[in-house]
Amino acid sequence: MLNIVIFGAPGSGKGTQSARLVEKYGLNHISTGDVLRAEIKNGTELGKTAKGYIDNGQLIPDELMIDILANVFDSFKNSKGVIFDGFPRTIAQAEALKKMLNERGQEVSIMLDLEVPEDELMVRLIKRGQESGRADDNEETIKKRLAVYHSQTAPLIDWYKNDGKYCYINGLGTMDGIFAAISESVDKL
Ligand code: AMP
Repeated sequence: MLNIVIFGAPGSGKGTQSARLVEKYGLNHISTGDVLRAEIKNGTELGKTAKGYIDNGQLIPDELMIDILANVFDSFKNSKGVIFDGFPRTIAQAEALKKMLNERGQEVSIMLDLEVPEDELMVRLIKRGQESGRADDNEETIKKRLAVYHSQTAPLIDWYKNDGKYCYINGLGTMDGIFAAISESVDKL
């Protein structure tokens, strides 16, 4: 299986590039943000819990996220591979992902780090908020999410470097150009 962690700050293009990976390599896609937004839309208990955190730009507690992730992963049968988009976001989640995959005879194949400068992230997220109406894409919440990214999620860069899975991708440029760089790295696996 090709297990790809697509990583980057909010607005770095993880969702866009994941869709292309799904199309080109026939992979399954887990976006934990999408899973949570669907739960909110359906008015579930999980959705109610998640909404408070999301609206405040905070992360949902690790234990909850890890359970969700394992359930979605196990729902894929005979999968060629999975793209993890928006997960892991903390060291505890990265460790849990490694354990979960090991228990299933699997491992992360590569971690693609989409690097985009902060001023560009702000511009993209504010534009996305205007176009899609995503509640957490407003200036105040974006600032909180970027702060959470720096304090809790960015340390995963060194974690994956130590694990030998890290791959830098320049996230500035055209969607096609960025996808070409991603494909080149994935094709080498
Ligand atoms: P995203 O769509 O990936 O930007 O996620 C939107 C929001 O969902 C985040 O700001 C978090 O509140 C929550 N979320 C998504 N994935 C995770 C995760 N792996 N761990 C904790 N919270 C998450």
